[in-house]
Amino acid sequence: MAKTLFQRIADGEIPAKLVHQDDRCVAFHDIAPQAPVHILVVPRAPVARIAEATPAHAELVGHLLLVAARVAADQGLRDGFRLVVNNGRHGGETVPHLHVHLLGGRPLGWPPG
Ligand code: AMP
Repeated sequence: MAKTLFQRIADGEIPAKLVHQDDRCVAFHDIAPQAPVHILVVPRAPVARIAEATPAHAELVGHLLLVAARVAADQGLRDGFRLVVNNGRHGGETVPHLHVHLLGGRPLGWPPG
């Protein structure tokens, strides 16, 4: 199977503006930001999407959320932020590698479009 774009970023084969990396995930600025802060938290493991995560991934999924919250604090998002996981066509997923969007730096509308 060909590597996904995010797998190649996690493996250091494609450059990205990294803000965090550890043994389980990387976090980097989205190339087309939808808010003043728009960062993606991506596992190193090739999980396609949250619907394909299994109980074996529970600790990893929790880690992604905790990293996102820590990065939000690092980015100074004291007034709040949003975490988003798009899944499948109706969910707006375009890259088939699990990722958590961290959005902040302005008030975010609800409900999303
Ligand atoms: P999604 O639509 O939830 O699959 O999110 C994919 C995100 O990846 C979009 O917000 C894109 O702007 C972002 N993206 C695509 N290519 C890159 C890249 N090379 N570096 C950083 N972000 C990217």
